[in-house]
Amino acid sequence: MEICSICKGRESIYYQRHSGLRFCRECFIRYVKKKVRKTLGREVIRQHIKIGMGLSGGKDSLVMAYLLREYFDPIPNSEVIGLIVDEGIEGFRKKGVELAVRFCEEYNIPYHITTFQEFIGCTLDEIVERARERNITANPCTFCGVIRRRVLNTMALELGCNYLAIGHNLDDIAQAVMMNYIEGDIRKLAMLGRGIEHPKFVKRIKPLKYIPEAEVKLFADLVGIKYHSEPCPYSSLSYRSEIAEILDLLERRHPGRKYSIVAGFERLVKYLPLERESKVCRYCGNPSASEVCKVCEILKKLDILKN
Ligand code: SF4
Ligand code: ZN
Ligand code: ZN
Repeated sequence: MEICSICKGRESIYYQRHSGLRFCRECFIRYVKKKVRKTLGREVIRQHIKIGMGLSGGKDSLVMAYLLREYFDPIPNSEVIGLIVDEGIEGFRKKGVELAVRFCEEYNIPYHITTFQEFIGCTLDEIVERARERNITANPCTFCGVIRRRVLNTMALELGCNYLAIGHNLDDIAQAVMMNYIEGDIRKLAMLGRGIEHPKFVKRIKPLKYIPEAEVKLFADLVGIKYHSEPCPYSSLSYRSEIAEILDLLERRHPGRKYSIVAGFERLVKYLPLERESKVCRYCGNPSASEVCKVCEILKKLDILKN
């Protein structure tokens, strides 16, 4: 029997390759809670803070909600709220929404649901179909991500949230960093690291940014969170999934590389230009880097937004 390297008593259930440490169930749970708390810091975990949490029903968003609720529960005048977006993906999203709702009810977290249909007048499936008819080859995730971010920001803004919490894990961030490096997209890199400063943008936080995907999953299973685990039907089409495979291979051969990609990026980010959205979108009035914002650009191209 392998013994936990932390308490040196209980049986180990997890071996962390990059550190060489073994964890028992209790020590692993404590380790994750402490690490995420440290990631957020006292700037975020304090009184008079309202956090909107983007909840898809997947393991990442629900583990994030589980932890944030626990941190904020004893703090007076603070609140965490579930923000659930139904993109309209047949045979997939309903189940995730259901699990997110069940989670919020079980843990007494207030929540709000918005659909793409309500927000822009059509579902993601319809957007993909329209793009196909018009021979627009962009990946469904591009449409989905841009519009979902807008929906979440609008929800958080209307609810008066100080922060918008997104459940991206270490793997997600390492993938995003590499995708932007490979494409040489400095603007997106800067936005990834520093966000956009504008009164109409709710500041984002990513509590799980230093927790690898496998550890998020282990944590969810150990504390008994029921999450949506089926992959989205569009996910295999994504460029991101290719990058994920490359990073997994790298991590297997050289443990710790996902950490170093993210840690290196965070050191670099302070040298990148701070993004300021100086214009206002002609159609929706949201702050934008150009005359027409990304959301309206997509909707125009697909004839969803008229005039
Ligand atoms: Fe949207 Fe792509 Fe995620 Fe599916 S995999 S929910 S299309 S971003
Ligand atoms: Zn232990
Ligand atoms: Zn717009």
